[in-house]
Amino acid sequence: MKATEIDLHKELKKYFGFNNFKGLQEDVVRSIISGQNTFVIMPTGGGKSLCYQLPALVLPGTAIVVSPLIALMKNQVDAIRSLSSETGIAHVLNSSLTKTEIAQVKKDITDGVTKLLYVAPESLTKEEYTQFLNTVPISFVAIDEAHCISEWGHDFRPEYRNLRNIISQLGDVPIIGLTATATPKVQEDILKNLDMPDANTFKASFNRPNLYYEIRPKQKTVESDIIRFIRQHKGKSGVIYCLSRKKVEEIAQVLQVNGISAVPYHAGLDAKTRAKHQDMFLMEDVDVVVATIAFGMGIDKPDVRFVIHHDIPKSLESYYQETGRAGRDGGEGHCLAYYSYKDIEKLEKFMSGKPVAEQEIGFALLQEVVAYAETSMSRRKFLLHYFGEEFDEETGEGADMDDNVRNPKKKTEAKEQVVTVLEVVRDTKQLYKSKEIIFTLTGKINAVIKAHRTDAQPFFGTGKDFDEKHWMALIRQVLVEGYLDKDIETYGILKLTPKGEEFIKNPVSFLMTEDHNYEETDDENTVTAAKSSGVSDEVLAGMLKDLRKKVAKKLGVPPFVV
Ligand code: ADP
Ligand code: MG
Repeated sequence: MKATEIDLHKELKKYFGFNNFKGLQEDVVRSIISGQNTFVIMPTGGGKSLCYQLPALVLPGTAIVVSPLIALMKNQVDAIRSLSSETGIAHVLNSSLTKTEIAQVKKDITDGVTKLLYVAPESLTKEEYTQFLNTVPISFVAIDEAHCISEWGHDFRPEYRNLRNIISQLGDVPIIGLTATATPKVQEDILKNLDMPDANTFKASFNRPNLYYEIRPKQKTVESDIIRFIRQHKGKSGVIYCLSRKKVEEIAQVLQVNGISAVPYHAGLDAKTRAKHQDMFLMEDVDVVVATIAFGMGIDKPDVRFVIHHDIPKSLESYYQETGRAGRDGGEGHCLAYYSYKDIEKLEKFMSGKPVAEQEIGFALLQEVVAYAETSMSRRKFLLHYFGEEFDEETGEGADMDDNVRNPKKKTEAKEQVVTVLEVVRDTKQLYKSKEIIFTLTGKINAVIKAHRTDAQPFFGTGKDFDEKHWMALIRQVLVEGYLDKDIETYGILKLTPKGEEFIKNPVSFLMTEDHNYEETDDENTVTAAKSSGVSDEVLAGMLKDLRKKVAKKLGVPPFVV
């Protein structure tokens, strides 16, 4: 169908009540309507759903929407049904349906009533469903949260790997992939796995100019630091992310005894409590949710004013997604993360139980988190570079919105050093990771260097005047400036880019800053905060008990539930 034949603005208004498309929506919609494979990369909240919902509503046939979470599908179906007088306009097909319900869904599809059919990937692979879907006209298949296809994404789902096969069985239907994951590697995986190298690709900017990024070293006083931060943001909504359920409970309690209205949220709580705590947060009965990553998928509270990471997350994507829940309304959003290398080691230890391939991916992603935390360059520039996006730190939107830019370190000229680094990369046949380059410069040997001894010889020990930390900082900055490229698939081997080759020939000024030197600290003792604010163990226990009673009374549940 020709998109030009449809008055898209009229349809937009008719179905959704919106006067205008947001961002790239209109182009995406046109691409889908014209029957082309389409790939959409937009940050969370960017309006991806409408990109396939509108075409589904105006095209003949039924669109299949693959989505990983039943809750997300149900929300969308309810929303679509509310736009129409026909309940059958959207359905979810899943294993919990009764025979009668399945019959109704099939009838609505056959009658041409159903425009959107939501399915979980595991349901779509069921032969019974595929056979049926093969007999009805399908307008297109949309794969929401398409990053689930990639092991390099933050939410890998093996079932997503089979989607291409199933879709092929449905005949020649266009495929639409949608994701909020912006890393080039994940995008490449998606296109490859869905076998649509020719897809029309639409990528929106991932810059969130209203978010302020800050990293603080994690010290024993982290809890009192958080309390102070929240007090400075009195009455504002915020989320605190912790890695373990235990930590979530502990922090929630420490906040409560300090008079901050906070509730815990994690998968270990029963569904009823979780729903209750979520509602309390949305309805502003409490200011703070202390949560594991179980909290957030599909949560749309526009005025979250801060997101605190008590523990640094395991990848920059998780960090971006989680911090992204702040300032959805465009207002203030303070993203504060506590970092200590000990936490990184804990995460590594945790990963070491996993299969080797998964481990290596995990370590590679973790190294990016380390680099982001330790760098003293523009955090926004670093983050956007990780997502394959260039950012001008002088003129870009939100350029001054991070701790590093607000409190800049002294810059020093490093032109010659950059040339040296680039030459090492070039002359060692581009087989080195940062570690080998740094070792070569500081005169250390490892197995990889031994294997390229002759190539590395001219540079061996020539950078001894600086320590490893200095060279690491420089390499990180050289990467972000695009003179080197890191191949994440090979777990970090560095390659010279054309821009880097040019730099060797015609070096220009390169001002660098040293990385942060965060003191190593630990946070083993969580009660420290309460103690340091002058509360004894006994008093603390008593306070907790009273508080539990109070909260329980408010929730109408027995005290042991909270
Ligand atoms: P994503 O899936 O990209 O995270 P959603 O599809 O959930 O984003 O949309 C985010 C929000 O943007 C929703 O509240 C939606 O109603 C709103 N929205 C989408 N398109 C438009 C538009 N054209 N005009 C105004 N609001 C829109
Ligand atoms: Mg979405």
